[in-house]
Amino acid sequence: MKFQKNVNLAKYTSFHVGGSAQYFGMVRNREDLREAFKFARRKNLKVLVLGGGSNTLLPDKKLARLVLKIAIRGLKFYRTAGRTFVYAGSGKNWDLVVAEAVKKNLGGIENLSLIPGTVGGAIYQNIGAYGAEMKNVLESVEVFDLETGKIKILSNKACQFAYRNSIFQSKAGRNLVILGAVLRLNRYIEPNLKYPDLASYFDGKKNVAIEEIRRAVIEIRKSKLIYPTKNIGTAGSFFKNPIVIKPRYSELKNKFPDIKASAIGSGHLKLSAGQLIEKAGWKGSRLANVGVSDKHALVLVSYRNAKAKEIVSLAKKIQASVKNKFGIKLKPEVRIIT
Ligand SMILES: Cc1cc2nc3c(=O)[nH]c(=O)nc-3n(C[C@H](O)[C@H](O)[C@H](O)COP(=O)(O)OP(=O)(O)OC[C@H]3O[C@@H](n4cnc5c(N)ncnc54)[C@H](O)[C@@H]3O)c2cc1C
Repeated sequence: MKFQKNVNLAKYTSFHVGGSAQYFGMVRNREDLREAFKFARRKNLKVLVLGGGSNTLLPDKKLARLVLKIAIRGLKFYRTAGRTFVYAGSGKNWDLVVAEAVKKNLGGIENLSLIPGTVGGAIYQNIGAYGAEMKNVLESVEVFDLETGKIKILSNKACQFAYRNSIFQSKAGRNLVILGAVLRLNRYIEPNLKYPDLASYFDGKKNVAIEEIRRAVIEIRKSKLIYPTKNIGTAGSFFKNPIVIKPRYSELKNKFPDIKASAIGSGHLKLSAGQLIEKAGWKGSRLANVGVSDKHALVLVSYRNAKAKEIVSLAKKIQASVKNKFGIKLKPEVRIIT
């Protein structure tokens, strides 16, 4: 495996910003990862793992780290004890996994169509969309521990999934590099069409095929979201939807009668961060080389020559004005590296 010096990282993230890495390596298999582990130890370097870079904001400065781009592929569908599974390598493009499953008429992940990035990133973030989440299909994850150099298997429970969260974001999981994962799929699913956009798309239609759901999700996403192009960078939703307790929601509702929320159980509600940002007047705004999408206020965008510090500064301004207007602190969904 080759370790390159001073590699520009901007092209490895969907914001298209970022400085260089002191060392950079492309990890194609577990042998590469073992080598990288030894290299980092020898040079006393911290490791930063990148998948598709579609949820990461890298700093403008040079990173004194070993940056590993995970390119471990592999995709295998199999049946055991009457159940169907797929094993996917962590560097595999997530949407290709969904497309292959749908082609085989296997359900469970079709609502998660067209989410950019890799399988590893999807698990780290516990991706979610249109009423589905990674945590509902994940059986187990194979990881490499950068502390010990050992490989182990984590069950779904051990991943400690929560809303856009997992053990991999905590101190306990920070040193774990995901190698691959097993997902549970199903041939005879009840389509998951409760999410309002999908419910209105199918308008009470019964017997919807898995393939039709994928097509609908793709169509809806394309009409609502901005995808990165050569000229525009984005990492999708920049902030998480804030979760509040019922009394807090009632207070807000009194002041702002049209405020949106969905109940998530145990007396908590999830607000729409996009709505709060829009109501604070940011939708479609632009500050020099960065801005807020005019399609969706939760999406920050970078234009040509944007710097990471401009995105961070815009995010801080948005946080301050939402805090000022609603008393709510928005937390980033994007991983910001400093
Ligand atoms: C247009 C657009 C739409 C989006 N829509 C959605 C959406 O609907 N729902 C949603 O949940 N997200 C969405 N996202 C965010 C993003 O696509 C997901 O979070 C995605 O799963 C990130 O994967 P990635 O490989 O690009 O992660 P990266 O940005 O490369 O990494 C994200 C984090 O995961 C860690 N990581 C990556 N690979 C591994 C690994 N192998 N082992 C350990 N850690 C790893 C990284 O260290 C980093 O901390 C969207 C993004 C864009 C640009």
